[in-house]
Amino acid sequence: MQALVYHGNKDLRLETVPEPTPGPGQVKLAVDYCGICATDVEEFLYGPVFISGDTPNPVTGRQMPLTTGHEIAATVIELGEGVLAPSVGDRVVLNGVLTCRTCRWCREGETTQCPSMAAIGFAIDGGLAEHVVWPAEQVVVLPDNVSSKEAALVEPASVAIHAARRSEAAAGDRVAVIGVGTVGLLAMQALKAQGAEVYAVDKRQMSLELAAELGADATIDSSTQDTVSRLAELTDGIGPNIVIDAAGAAETPKLAVEAVRRGGLVVLVAIYTSTPQFDFNSLVGTEVRMAGSLAYEQRDVEEAVKLIASGQMKTLPLVSDVIKLDQVIETGFPRMVSAAKDVFRILVTPR
Ligand SMILES: [Zn+2]
Ligand SMILES: [Zn+2]
Repeated sequence: MQALVYHGNKDLRLETVPEPTPGPGQVKLAVDYCGICATDVEEFLYGPVFISGDTPNPVTGRQMPLTTGHEIAATVIELGEGVLAPSVGDRVVLNGVLTCRTCRWCREGETTQCPSMAAIGFAIDGGLAEHVVWPAEQVVVLPDNVSSKEAALVEPASVAIHAARRSEAAAGDRVAVIGVGTVGLLAMQALKAQGAEVYAVDKRQMSLELAAELGADATIDSSTQDTVSRLAELTDGIGPNIVIDAAGAAETPKLAVEAVRRGGLVVLVAIYTSTPQFDFNSLVGTEVRMAGSLAYEQRDVEEAVKLIASGQMKTLPLVSDVIKLDQVIETGFPRMVSAAKDVFRILVTPR
């Protein structure tokens, strides 16, 4: 079968690889759509960072070369030994994070903190391929009213839902989301579903317009408006009690702490590619708490499917294009990194 295989820095090859066979407890899936994520582009340009490079991952025993791609909607085509569910023909999404199941964090259900976590497309072959095999108990079956195309965004939606869960936002809470790209727009909808009032902050017009369309209670253009004073105006002069940084820029953690209410909470759901300068006295003096949010758990994947099925989370407006496997490097990646970025998600269909 055809697969997009990561061999190292700037070395991604579309090649013919052996057909995978499902082992005991696994299912074989035909990939319907696989999204291209900024992380895929970063691994291509600057990696291997998260991809297992020189040493094999302890859970999977795998290292590069590895098939990339982790935002997958697929159809079950074959069952491995002992698999009772799902069934052949079911359309599914994956909990793409494998964990050791024995460490302190796995036992407590905090699977994102498993020291041996292994993600699909990073430590085991991923979804930018015709087929993939995966543990049956880590797939979630899609209901009929969720299309495979909208389900291709369940992975970033799960990341966003995990961050919204970490924020513990509820009805009556006022939340600012800094950076309404894909994860920010999905987090915003998860926060709305939790009952919060949400303000979207970004510099990109197309992001702000979509945020308004998807239910933002206010939008702030940080290139022309003073974000901190505008957020204060919206919140009786005291600031939102929660700020989510989904932008991950050098200056956004500082902005989040300046904008949040005294005693409030800042959740960071971004990978920072530069090291921000940060004055920790700004936390001491205001008793602001800061929390990280990494990846997602199985229950976040299940919640993403539920929110899409109920119409509380819309993902189709974030699908900017659908391309073929052989267009990823020439067409997909350049559009993701262009200065005038005009896309949210580009989906790849390998068939
Ligand atoms: Zn991703
Ligand atoms: Zn573990």
